[in-house]
This record gives sequence, C-alpha cells and structure tokens, in this order.
Amino acid sequence: MEKNAAGVRVRFAPSPTGDLHVGNIRTALFDWAYAKHTGGTFVFRIEDTDRERVTDHYIEAAGETLKWLGLDWDEGPGVGGPYGPYLQSQRLDIYQEWADRFLAQGDAYHCYCSNEELEARREKAKESNRPPGYDGACRNLTEDQIASFRAQHRTPVIRMRMPDGKTTFTDLIRGEVTFEHEFVPDFVLMRADGSPLYTLAVAVDDVLMRITHILRGEDLLSSTPRQIRVYQAMGVKESDYPVFAHLPFVMGSDNAKLSKRNGEVSIAWYRERGFLPEAICNYLALLGWSPGDDREDVSLQEIADLFDVSRVNSSPARFDMKKLEAINGEKIRRLALDDFLARSLPFVIEAGVITGSPSEVEVVRKALPLIQERIVTLGEVVAMVRFLFGEGIEVEADSLSKVSEPQAKEVLRSAMSALTPVVKWDEQSIEGALRESLIDGMGLKPRLAFTPVRIAVTGSHISPPLFESLALLGKERTLARISALL
Ligand code: GLU
Ligand code: ZN
Repeated sequence: MEKNAAGVRVRFAPSPTGDLHVGNIRTALFDWAYAKHTGGTFVFRIEDTDRERVTDHYIEAAGETLKWLGLDWDEGPGVGGPYGPYLQSQRLDIYQEWADRFLAQGDAYHCYCSNEELEARREKAKESNRPPGYDGACRNLTEDQIASFRAQHRTPVIRMRMPDGKTTFTDLIRGEVTFEHEFVPDFVLMRADGSPLYTLAVAVDDVLMRITHILRGEDLLSSTPRQIRVYQAMGVKESDYPVFAHLPFVMGSDNAKLSKRNGEVSIAWYRERGFLPEAICNYLALLGWSPGDDREDVSLQEIADLFDVSRVNSSPARFDMKKLEAINGEKIRRLALDDFLARSLPFVIEAGVITGSPSEVEVVRKALPLIQERIVTLGEVVAMVRFLFGEGIEVEADSLSKVSEPQAKEVLRSAMSALTPVVKWDEQSIEGALRESLIDGMGLKPRLAFTPVRIAVTGSHISPPLFESLALLGKERTLARISALL
C-alpha cells in the first residue's frame, strides 16, 4: 500500500485555537513516525483561516511543543520548503482562485440562501424525516432569480456541487469506507465575506503540497468525501489522491472522548508538571498502536523505526494516566545525572527554591541520586529538595499532626543529644547515632523513631532518605531545626 516510498509526504495540520492537546500530539507523532519510517517528508502546516480563534500565540506554542517533543518537521513554518507558505492565512489568494475556477467549471455555484432560510428548511426537512442538509435550492438559478437576489443586496456563498452517487476510498486503518452522497449535501467552500472554509483550504493544500498520506483523527472521517470532491474538481487523477488513515479516538477514563471534562488534555499541563517529552511520546505511541510483542518501552527513534500503520488498531484507545506516570517514572530513573540535573533545575528555580548559583546547583546535584527512585514527575523534585535551602523550614500541616504526640517530643530530645556529639558528619555516623539512641535506647520501631526527626528537619514526612538528607543539610542546620520544632 505504501506508494513510491521515497516520495511519501505526510502533514500535520493543526488549527491552534488553544494549546495542542493529547489527541493532536498523538496525531502529530503518528504523522512524524510514518514519514520517518518511510524515509519521507514531514510537513507542518498551520490551518489558521479562522483568525478569530487561532492566535499567533498558539501558533508559536504549537511549533514549540513539537520541537520540545522532538517531532522536527522537514517543511513548514520557520523551515520553509518548496510548497510554502505553510500558514493558510498567507494562502487566501490561492483558495480564492480555486473557488473561482470551480465556479467557472460548473463544479461550484453561488448560493444566496440566508441563514434564516436555511434554518427554516432544515427544520421542515427534519419534521418530514428527510436529511437535514442543504437541499440544493440554488443549484440551478435562472438569470432572473440571480438578478432579484442581487437586487436584495444578498452576498452569496460558494457551494460545491455534490454529484449523485457515492464516494468510496480505502482507509489504511478502517479498510474500505463508503459515503452515499445522499448524506453529503452540497457544501460551502467560501463564505459570503470571501473567507475559505476548512474543507476547501485543507484539500487544496494537500494537493498543492503533494501530500501522499493523511493520517489524522477519526473525527475528520466524515469530511473525507468532501475533500475528495475538491480533488476531483481540481482535476487530480484518482490514483494521485492522498491515502487516508483515520486514527481511533482517544477516550477518557469514563469512555467518553477525551476532553477537558474527563481528563487533562493540554500537553502544556503535562510539561508544566515535569513529564518528559520522551515519556509522552512513548505513552502516546501506545494509544492505538503497538510495536508488537507486548513491548511498552520505546524511544522516539524506535517509534520511527517500528511504526507500521497496519498495526494501528481501529477501536478507540483509552487514556490511562497511571500508565503514563509509570512510564515517566521509569524514564526518570534511567536519566544520567547531568541530564536529570539539567532537566530538574528549571523546576527548582521556577519554584523560587534556588536562584541557580553554582553552589546551589551543587547541592541539588548531590540530592538528585537520593530521589531519583522516588519521583514520578520532575515537578516533584521541588518538594524533595526544598528543605536543603534556607535556614528555617515550614512544617507541612499534615506532617505536623504526626509529631504532636508527647512521644515525638521525647524522640526529638534524644535525637538532639545523640547528634550533638557527632564529629564526622556523614551518613554512617548519623545513622549510628540515631539508631543507638532511638532504636536501641528507646526501643522504638524505626518508623516511630525516625518520622519525627524527618519532619523536624525536612518539614515533611515524605523526603529523600533520612540519613543522607541530614548529611547533606549539615550538622548546624539539622540541630537548629530539631530544636526549633521542639
Ligand atoms: N486543521 C484540522 C484540525 O485541526 C485538521 C486537518 C486535517 O488533518 O485534515 O482539526
Ligand atoms: Zn442556496
């Protein structure tokens, strides 16, 4: 099914009306992977004809997000290419020309119906159980009718004529798909104000940009027969139509389509919390596709190497936050220290814990190996290292409730006297002193013995391993914090 492999051209064509969401990125990833796998070209096109909803900020952010994920494009904004411009808002003349051509060829016609008229006829059609789409009223207007509409100062839209019959195409994921034209009414190409509709712009661009494969969300399946109609009107031979592959929906945990209502959909949200781009790509790759043999750990390069559109499942995929978290935690555990440090610092600095001076960075570097096994997202580094900076600390309220018992006070007093004489302030000596005094001396179980000390020193009952933490913090601050809580 793969056409002339070297010539494969795949596009990702979002309409950035907000931050890219999980569904967009899954599509982008599959587009990219298909292009890479086939040695083809990955084209990034911005569908911004609706400039009221698509903003420069979100266009910028979309490109930034792709770059952050490692989904570099071969043609598109910032990169250029032979078929640009790659922003639809800069191609309006092209759509106008084609619409005019379709009019001249008789493939399209002016429709003068007002919204109110269309609405009234739609209601009527529904009442009599006819399909509610456009009824073709303006298909064959006489000169007189046109003159009278003009006299009423009506400005027409341009509508594509949908011939009787049906459209059949082979979708790489869903197999043969047929749409009866009875359910595909004549559709608008250009609004009365001369702005193009999605169907016109997308189809014209896919042809002019020589796109060979369109992998996109299933929600666009029903627009395919209209796009094919535009290809026909453009004079494209059937054998040159792009090949379609409609990717299954991504569902939320409640089995409804993933959206703001049932999950976190914005990629920015994941990024802000410290999900790694490679974990996001790894996880999203598994939404509807599998590399085979139950493998769940894949790098971006492996996704490109292994991606096979015939292994994409046609049934909906379920977004599973727990699995994404597990993959993220696993990738964090495997980061080399320098890399882990470089990726964590922005979070620690952003949170105001450090300014980023070399001495502070050194402390973070020492702390990171202690927490690498214990966190799921980079954002969690902040809470884990906060105690290492500054003199006093604030003890978390829910942790405080764990140290209020009289016994905790006794534990802290003993810890204080056990640690005061320690000369060589390292992990072993600290552990030795505390065990001797609290476990052997007071006969306490480790958890009861060490929790109050942990809370006094780190401010929380969740922290890196205790003895290493105290060693890193230093003797002076350790004793000062224990005495402060006492
Ligand atoms: N711009 C369209 C969207 O974001 C997608 C176009 C396409 O993939 O055909 O919904
Ligand atoms: Zn009409």
